[in-house]
Amino acid sequence: MLALQDLSFVLWGQATGAANVLMPCFIWIAMPAWAIYLVHRMIMAELDVLIGFLTLCATVYLGFLAWRPPQEWMGFGAVIAFFSIVVGLPLMEKLNMASADKALMLEQIETQYTQLRRNPQNAIATFRLAKYAYDNGMAGHALALAEIAITSLSPALFREEHKTIALWRMTVGPQHQAPVKCLGCGNDCHPGEAFCSKCWAPFIYDRIRGGVFKTSSVGRKVLLIWVAIVVAGFTIPQLARISPAIAIPVTLLLIALCFWALFTAIRDTVTNS
Ligand SMILES: [Zn+2]
Repeated sequence: MLALQDLSFVLWGQATGAANVLMPCFIWIAMPAWAIYLVHRMIMAELDVLIGFLTLCATVYLGFLAWRPPQEWMGFGAVIAFFSIVVGLPLMEKLNMASADKALMLEQIETQYTQLRRNPQNAIATFRLAKYAYDNGMAGHALALAEIAITSLSPALFREEHKTIALWRMTVGPQHQAPVKCLGCGNDCHPGEAFCSKCWAPFIYDRIRGGVFKTSSVGRKVLLIWVAIVVAGFTIPQLARISPAIAIPVTLLLIALCFWALFTAIRDTVTNS
């Protein structure tokens, strides 16, 4: 009985020993693909360079922690944290993109943009674009575009549109009038514009297509909070060993980073609603 216990103990020890060696290898094997994935998103302007860079640094940090864990739990912790984001984020992106409704909607928005490129005065296309903007949380832009379109749409023929705009006029306020950033060039796009005034990008389409990373989207928040948890969660426990003169300011800095990440995430949620 005792021998069996010993055996299982030895086996367990060997299994965890093997895992301790193999897991960091997996991290470093996955790292180049992960880095390319992030850089690609940054080049496509789907991901802020700052957040992408922070995420990459945090994952490299996890690679080192898994390789030489300062405390035993950190080895496994780092592996779990690494794979949670490396698997979780592309999965989230897939789920977002895979929704058939969204694909159909994007096709419709593209059609309106094609019409507007041919004839920028096309009131019906402008109004339809406004509706998509409204459905996707860009109420101020929706109302401003609809106001332009409605002047060429007679109330007798376009009753629905006139009803819609009347409703919007009651609900859309000055808090919805903020410009949005063009994802192509970073220019401020103001309500009433269908194209970016600087690079002519169809910014409403770009923002709705968005993906999970873009400003105010779930992916950005997840990344920010993930980076904050990883950096603070793995670093603060290590600081107990070094002199308080360094440990205290670094701890405060890390806590500040956490608050900044949470604040940014929450601010995005508020401005998006
Ligand atoms: Zn632009």
